[in-house]
Amino acid sequence: MINEILKRVWGYDSFKEGQEEIIKSIMDGYDTLALMPTGGGKSLCFQIPAMARDGTCLVVSPLIALIKDQVGRLVSLGVNAAAVYSGMTKQQIDTALDNVIYGEYKFLYVSPERLQSHLFKERVAKMKINYLVVDEAHCISQWGYDFRPSYLQICEIKRILGSVTTVALTATATKKVAEDIVQKLQFSRPNIISTGFERKNLSYVVRNTDNKYGNLLRICNNVKGSGIVYLRERKKCEEISSFLNANGISADFYHAGLSSAERSRKQELWQDGKTRIIVATNAFGMGIDKADVRFVVHFDLPESLEAYFQEAGRAGRDGRRSYATMLWNGEDVKRLRLLHSINFPETDFIKDIYQKVFKFLDIPYEYGGNSVHLFNLSEFVRAFSLNASKAYYAIKHIEREGYWELTDETDNPSRIMFVVNRDELYDLQLKDAVLDTFIKALMRIYTGLFSKPTPIDEEYVARLTKDSAEGVKEKLKQLALKHRVIKYIPKRRGTFIILKNERLLESNLRIDESEYLFRKHLFGERIESIISYVQNETECRSRQLIRYFSQPAGRDCGICDVCIEKRNRENYSLALETAACRITEFVLERESMGVVTTVEDVATFAGDNRKLYIDALRAMTDTGRIFIRRGEVSTRP
Ligand code: ADP
Ligand code: MG
Repeated sequence: MINEILKRVWGYDSFKEGQEEIIKSIMDGYDTLALMPTGGGKSLCFQIPAMARDGTCLVVSPLIALIKDQVGRLVSLGVNAAAVYSGMTKQQIDTALDNVIYGEYKFLYVSPERLQSHLFKERVAKMKINYLVVDEAHCISQWGYDFRPSYLQICEIKRILGSVTTVALTATATKKVAEDIVQKLQFSRPNIISTGFERKNLSYVVRNTDNKYGNLLRICNNVKGSGIVYLRERKKCEEISSFLNANGISADFYHAGLSSAERSRKQELWQDGKTRIIVATNAFGMGIDKADVRFVVHFDLPESLEAYFQEAGRAGRDGRRSYATMLWNGEDVKRLRLLHSINFPETDFIKDIYQKVFKFLDIPYEYGGNSVHLFNLSEFVRAFSLNASKAYYAIKHIEREGYWELTDETDNPSRIMFVVNRDELYDLQLKDAVLDTFIKALMRIYTGLFSKPTPIDEEYVARLTKDSAEGVKEKLKQLALKHRVIKYIPKRRGTFIILKNERLLESNLRIDESEYLFRKHLFGERIESIISYVQNETECRSRQLIRYFSQPAGRDCGICDVCIEKRNRENYSLALETAACRITEFVLERESMGVVTTVEDVATFAGDNRKLYIDALRAMTDTGRIFIRRGEVSTRP
């Protein structure tokens, strides 16, 4: 039956490695943790069991882009699938959830932060959920490299659902993380299936070099086909992209500082093969499904082997020979260790940054709760002469503690919030019939307008109120500037800081130190794991990676730099031995005829293999197989 579904829905003839075993485990009712490398085909492993049974499959997935992508794909295959994520209006969410309850929906994808909403919990209880699926399940573990606190909400949903078969999938989990997933998701009949982490067609290469540019150029020129170059800094992505173009190689850059429209355009051009190489920060990757990536180059050291394995793994999904090359030198190691102290500043520094941000925004103690401000990090840093990265990470740590939120620098939706109470608002509504209707519409469409700055979409409001987007913006401006009943922050590019609490006194600011130190420690461990990976030149790269993920020891891959170097060495020593025998024969023959042999005679005899024969001569004199006196070679001492 599962073969029939595979063919009917997806049009595929056979399963990929491991898929069948995982599908069977799920259908037999085991809580299943599937460990499968990126591109291995994890989605089908839960989608097929869900198609085979009544009810709806609830899928938790961390990124909106991933959710949209997967739902879009299912819909295009004729499967009913819905999604709920932040950024949707209350009404959109309402409709989606109702559809799932009353319609024949096979899949509901949710982003984890939506799980805790009352609306969601209430509705999900009414759904007939056949499987609970947790994609990118490593996000639930504090030991993982991408811990997301909102993933812990899944446990609460599980309580609501009662006994339901749970499926967790990830490409990167160490033993510790795997155990943590099983425990956090309260697997009752656990079954962990790992389909080899071996990528037989992927050649891992690590190069210690002071000439990264030259090396990169050589790779781009020698390996045909499309590639990804990973870098840490945005500015450098642009620089290296133009460096490649200047050398006649088609390349473009990609990072989170670009607008989302620009990003999708660049990604598409690359995906369609119109741009050959994409030079990107780690913002590029999740959800990319390009089969014929021939190489991935890491121009800087990534922050963990988990991230490295994911990023490198984007090469060669089609099974053809591909390369993952890491370029590094001693400077990178220093920089990575420095990063540790920058990413995790001392708590006193963090507390100081908290106060400085408020000072910068000109907000006194006990003010500023529930407000949104444009926040220019570089101006902030300049105003107080701070190290930009260190300040940024301090701000991000305060964000984790829940005091504020720093938005990305792109795509900030407009936000509004009522700054008067309902009675005062009512006065205005009595006076102005048009605004009255408009205010009522706003309150119907959005909730929470009185308590926090709420993201809104003017065009959506315009459609629902049969107005133009310009008309809506005009009314919002009136409410904000003329009547002063709302705060209106129009959509714009830039970074915002959303303050959740009023400014606290130094003594009242709490930073959870033990959690902080724990994360700092883990970060340090991860950095060291990548450093020992590049420095270990004696163990097959593939085996090193597999060992890191606590998988059963693999075989030497035979195609990584370590394996190739080893083979070259073996070949060379074989060649040396052959040369030694030939030299002995050559000298013996001449001796039998009473002819003296000089080193130069041997070199001439060697022809093109001069270096090899000289090496062999040296080895032979070292071991006493041959003797050299005053430039003459002899078999006798
Ligand atoms: P993962 O989540 O493991 O990274 P996906 O589930 O996104 O991988 O699948 C990667 C690609 O492999 C997708 O394009 C998918 O359609 C394809 N795929 C999955 N299973 C099969 C199969 N049995 N035969 C052919 N292609 C498959
Ligand atoms: Mg996936």
